[in-house]
Amino acid sequence: MKVFKFGGASVKDSAGVRNLGEIIKTQGKDAFVVVSAMGKTTNALEDLVRAYVHRQNENTQTVLATLKDFHQRMSIELLGNSIPVDETFAHLDLLLAQPPSAPYDEVYDQIVSLGEILSTQIIAAYLQQNNVPTQWLDARQLICTDITFREGRVNWTETNQRISQRVTGKGVKITQGFVGQTATNRTTTLGRDGSDYSAAIFAYCLNADSVTIWKDVPGVLNADPRWFDETILLDKLTYQDAIELAYYGATVIHPKTIKPLQNKGIPLYVRSFLTPDAPGTVIGNFEQHLSTPSFIFKVNQVLISLRPNDFSFIAEDNLSRIFGRFAQAGVKINLMQNTAISFSVVVDNNPDRVPALLALLKQDFRVSYNDSLELITIRYYDQGTIDRVLVNKKLLLEQKSRYTVQLVVKDLG
Ligand code: ADP
Ligand code: ASP
Ligand code: MG
Repeated sequence: MKVFKFGGASVKDSAGVRNLGEIIKTQGKDAFVVVSAMGKTTNALEDLVRAYVHRQNENTQTVLATLKDFHQRMSIELLGNSIPVDETFAHLDLLLAQPPSAPYDEVYDQIVSLGEILSTQIIAAYLQQNNVPTQWLDARQLICTDITFREGRVNWTETNQRISQRVTGKGVKITQGFVGQTATNRTTTLGRDGSDYSAAIFAYCLNADSVTIWKDVPGVLNADPRWFDETILLDKLTYQDAIELAYYGATVIHPKTIKPLQNKGIPLYVRSFLTPDAPGTVIGNFEQHLSTPSFIFKVNQVLISLRPNDFSFIAEDNLSRIFGRFAQAGVKINLMQNTAISFSVVVDNNPDRVPALLALLKQDFRVSYNDSLELITIRYYDQGTIDRVLVNKKLLLEQKSRYTVQLVVKDLG
């Protein structure tokens, strides 16, 4: 069985859904299809949750009306009179009419997950109407997670059992990316951009032959084309290179996607929904290193430096305290480096989390920080590439391993 995953960009308008239909007709007759919310729906649903929880009624109604309008218009353009999303919006109306009765992250998951429900309802009806026998499956009943709302951790044993029991029969199957459910039937989500990961979970449990994620780029490139004018398509990548690139921030693949596929040797294809006949990139078990450097840029980074107040070494006891603080504040470390009595970390400058982290760290350490920085990672670097990247930048910190260099810089331009 083939698993296909279509992201928000591929189904942002009715032409996108028609294109998806063509790809399934020509290349995915029995595919298991995982779909994200349409276009920027997830961002809009996040706005809705914020307005609802903060009891901004007018704002809530405005965002809700925009979401309804968009999905109703999509339904009409694709299906004529039938509007398969009415029931889901009726459910959402009921939910929003009550005051929030759970912590923020739990409320978030009950609402934001509906983006994927809406998109798959429309797309399943469209495929059905266009003579592609399609079964709509509810991913909430298939992917079982713990209760970490907004970052659900998969219970693999239970998920495997449910998927093997419930995904049967021939024809196209369509389900939602990004969503799961706790053992007590509360909806969870798997983290922003988590639909690639959902596709990998399904592929693992179904022992799929391959996974194809359909993107708006020709495949995995050696840099994000939003930042670089000249990029090179990487036609073959090892699982190891793919996981390293994704981990350091190449947003074309969600970093959690690779492990389940590597564990079962399932190849991952990254292909363009704009040129569906082109081969794109294949990721698998290959014996080869890349011959060109790959670049990953992260902007809006903050470099935090810590020194123990009492001039003690940065050793195991201090390190475990530091990591404990980061875990408590929910801040992910992008790079770290230590000397005898100082410890430096680079993190995304998230205004919801970093101030609280700094306050926690100040309880035990002298803290200094430097913001508005860039973190540049180069895999398969050479000195010439580093020199080119550093033109017009001030280098604050550098970390090299055999294949990867990370540079923390201030842009002087
Ligand atoms: P979707 O949500 O539709 O699945 P994303 O927008 O998350 O897809 O991912 C595709 C985007 O990833 C591209 O438009 C591109 O800007 C970005 N990207 C970042 N790094 C790379 C890379 N190395 N190769 C290709 N695309 C990349
Ligand atoms: N719709 C979710 C998001 O935008 C999941 C995904 O698209 O992968 O984050
Ligand atoms: Mg995405």
